[in-house]
Amino acid sequence: MAQTTVGFITTEHASSNRDPSAHADYVLDKWATDIQDGSRNYSLGVNSWDDRTAELNNPDGTDDALEQLKNDSTVQNIINETPVWDAVVVIDDRDYQFAVGGEVTEIGCAGPWNGEDAIAYMTADGEKIHTAHEVGHLHNARHGDAENWGWWEFTIMAQTNVQTCNNNDLQLTRKGRFSGCATNKIRDYIDNQM
Ligand SMILES: [Zn+2]
Repeated sequence: MAQTTVGFITTEHASSNRDPSAHADYVLDKWATDIQDGSRNYSLGVNSWDDRTAELNNPDGTDDALEQLKNDSTVQNIINETPVWDAVVVIDDRDYQFAVGGEVTEIGCAGPWNGEDAIAYMTADGEKIHTAHEVGHLHNARHGDAENWGWWEFTIMAQTNVQTCNNNDLQLTRKGRFSGCATNKIRDYIDNQM
């Protein structure tokens, strides 16, 4: 049965307001609602660790943070663990003044057969919905797979002022969730790339 697994950790400066288990639970809830089907196909397995933390040495931007995390021993240990973790999300709690929410090493890189390690870096300002957004990117979901009705009304993969799927006039009940377009893209990725 096709499924995916994501591990969540924080940085060496872990604090209670950046609890990785809270982010894992949030993403799991969104995934169970919109990505997993009635037979539990496309399900998401999550875990988080309080005692395993990544180290960052004063990164100068999100690209630098991701480069450091690719070489971080804790991140590498989790990615290479058995049973396999298809991706790792690192939630930072230090404000380096480049807050953007999050970034991934590459869009569509979760799973064992990609060229890049599947890592998402969440900046200090990253809310839980941003974490779900980045986990979507790790599974090949794009901004164009989202729907967007305004500044506070959008589906998870949305970025403001970008072209969105379904001409923005459908699926109003999907606000704050994965749109149907994103669901299709993510399921297709799990079927064919993982
Ligand atoms: Zn994005």
